[in-house]
Amino acid sequence: MAEPELVDVVVVGLGVGGEEVAGRLAEAGLTVVGIERDLVGGECPYWGCVPSKMMIRAANALAEARRVNELAGAAQVQPDWAPVAKRIREEATDTWDDKVAVDRFVGKGGRFVRGSGRLDGPGRVRVGDQMFQARYGVVLGTGTRPSIPPIDGLADTPYWTNHQAIEVEALPESLLMLGGGAIGLELAQVFARFGVQVTVVEAADRVLAVEEPEASEVAAAALRADGVTIATGVRAERVSHDGQSFTVHGAGGAEFTAERLLVVTGRRAHLEELGLETVDVDASQRYLPVDERMHAADGIWAVGDLTGEGAFTHIAMYQAGIVVADVLDHMRRTKGGPDPSGTASVAGGPAGVASAVGGAMSAGGATAAPGSIPRADYRALPRVTFTDPEVGAVGLTEKQARERGINVQVGYADLTSSTRGWIHKAGNEGFIKLIADADQGVLIGATSVGPAGGEVLSGLVVAVHAAVPVSQLRHMIYAYPTFHRAIEDALRQLK
Ligand SMILES: Cc1cc2nc3c(=O)[nH]c(=O)nc-3n(C[C@H](O)[C@H](O)[C@H](O)COP(=O)(O)OP(=O)(O)OC[C@H]3O[C@@H](n4cnc5c(N)ncnc54)[C@H](O)[C@@H]3O)c2cc1C
Repeated sequence: MAEPELVDVVVVGLGVGGEEVAGRLAEAGLTVVGIERDLVGGECPYWGCVPSKMMIRAANALAEARRVNELAGAAQVQPDWAPVAKRIREEATDTWDDKVAVDRFVGKGGRFVRGSGRLDGPGRVRVGDQMFQARYGVVLGTGTRPSIPPIDGLADTPYWTNHQAIEVEALPESLLMLGGGAIGLELAQVFARFGVQVTVVEAADRVLAVEEPEASEVAAAALRADGVTIATGVRAERVSHDGQSFTVHGAGGAEFTAERLLVVTGRRAHLEELGLETVDVDASQRYLPVDERMHAADGIWAVGDLTGEGAFTHIAMYQAGIVVADVLDHMRRTKGGPDPSGTASVAGGPAGVASAVGGAMSAGGATAAPGSIPRADYRALPRVTFTDPEVGAVGLTEKQARERGINVQVGYADLTSSTRGWIHKAGNEGFIKLIADADQGVLIGATSVGPAGGEVLSGLVVAVHAAVPVSQLRHMIYAYPTFHRAIEDALRQLK
């Protein structure tokens, strides 16, 4: 093993969060080593958000065309997966090649190392036969991988995870899905709209179990209307594969058979791979806990899914902004560190996604005086399930709020009977549900389901984030006839 090489920062895992941190610190003039064992960019651009949303865009185009018969004459639709697969291959992923992303990082001044990074004592990271010693710290952004439940027989079958589902070139005739969460429902609807016989098997008593029950109902009804079979309350006990098809055997004798099986039962961080024991951090935890400045331990920051604060790209980007500011602040405080005054670019960031984080940073980011580094606040964490209708939510659900002993008020408005919903007609299912803290007079949670549920959500995120008094929300002007005008109806119903 060679002598450790001294650098400023080592970033292990260049997914959404790690790439953002490494790129911005390199742009700020630090010597940054970025280590990635698979593809720079991580899950989101290659097997997650981006390709899945391309699939959804295509599937929604089919659904809209089918609505022509009810609204505008006659249309016959002939689904074809080939353009979707081609778009994912060529436009989204460069056939799962990260050359552009690697060049982007190196172009910012970063040093790229392909391989698996592992901590080897304070500030030290080993990758293959190379060893780096970080002067200011190590940032872990190693994400999660699919969590495969210990169901009898499953491990021996050629089941799919999201990787095979996104890479698929020719669709199967039938597909079983284990798991009825956000990722599962999005993919179930896509494949069903392209003619696949889809069955969702979910152990909980409803799909989208973390969201409001009303959202689960609307989403389940929409999927059923697309031909998806939904079996809730079914605990899979055994999986078998006979070379042609998979069978899931549920408790109580239920059986489901299909050509393919997709497992989307959640994701898991693999802390045991990171050498955390060499820095006295418990590696047996499900996620790596961090404080509000993303510190996991002395000299170690963590970012993204790994932290367990929410498996979303926008969380990884948000946390990355905090890490960048905090590392620079730490450097500023470290005796003998280079003068960080030339790091103004941190607050601006490059164009595109990074500039969105730059926006968050201006609330107290790298330009702020030492001690005023932004701190993570997840009160107004938005989440969107991109089914049709979309399920957008922010903050607490009604159940979560009641469990916290909050004096809860609920406002509800049905979208189908709102003016815009009624005009929209085919595909107008949805609602607005507001959760208010009656004592504080502010919204603490909201759900927006509808054709543009994720977009309508933005106003509600502002309301929760900024704790805008309900009395003020009631006296705003809501454009007519928008979907978001249903918020005004729901506010009136708060009781
Ligand atoms: C199908 C699907 C759809 C999704 N859709 C959305 C969406 O619409 N909106 C949204 O906000 N989020 C979505 N997500 C979630 C989103 O993809 C993740 O939240 C995001 O990718 C997390 O980024 P990350 O940087 O934490 O981890 P990742 O993107 O998982 O990146 C971690 C990286 O670390 C690397 N790595 C791991 N261990 C090591 C090691 N020891 N050494 C070197 N490298 C290592 C991995 O190879 C990987 O590239 C979706 C996810 C899936 C699966």
